[in-house]
Amino acid sequence: MRIPINATVNQAASTSGWCVGGPRSQHELDLHIHLTTLPLQGLSVNGDEFTWEANGISDGSFSASHTWEILRPQSTKKQWADLIWFKGAVPNHAFNMWIANADRLPTRTRLASWGLNISTSCPLCSCFQETRDHLLINCDYSKAVWQLLFERLDPAHRGLFSWTELLSWIRGPQTSPAVTLRRISVQAIIFHLWKQRNNVIHNQISLSTAVVFRLVDRDVRTIITAKRQRKNFASLMSSWLR
Ligand SMILES: [Zn+2]
Repeated sequence: MRIPINATVNQAASTSGWCVGGPRSQHELDLHIHLTTLPLQGLSVNGDEFTWEANGISDGSFSASHTWEILRPQSTKKQWADLIWFKGAVPNHAFNMWIANADRLPTRTRLASWGLNISTSCPLCSCFQETRDHLLINCDYSKAVWQLLFERLDPAHRGLFSWTELLSWIRGPQTSPAVTLRRISVQAIIFHLWKQRNNVIHNQISLSTAVVFRLVDRDVRTIITAKRQRKNFASLMSSWLR
């Protein structure tokens, strides 16, 4: 536009009009057309002022979060989002849960489908193919860990059969503390089952289901203790330990 980058509006306009060169691109032409719609009021008397405006809302100062909300690509909220991302979630548990929910964990059947010449059998029981649903839900090993969780939180539960069923169990009763406890304990179990699976494959370390559940128990207690100041976490320890 042949205007110095640090010029003020005052320097780019006079009472007779805008001091800009002839347009050399469609963008410049569009800008010229836009400029002709702006009134040049009192340019010689008033100094420049600037305000930040985003989506028609001007609150005087620049807000990074407001601007980002407008700039970022927005999508409709996924139905499962609150089961994975919630206030107080443990980042690595939530991330692992997110990957598992999208069925993107590199299970052996997925690795084989990418052309890797490997056995696809489940490393925990060796009896079935290692898919997400088998490894984390239907494997006898995982079932035993889930059973220990249900004994604590939902003794009447008869066991899980699918990933969808797991998600609807987390939603279960619509009271906030119970849902929070279900969300953190489920994420901890998914995290530790996947970790145990990797331990068997890569380190040849095999832990009993009771030991894995003790690790889950320790994590859940630590999470509740660390976040006890939050409203949703304040009463969780008694529900977890009962
Ligand atoms: Zn298995």
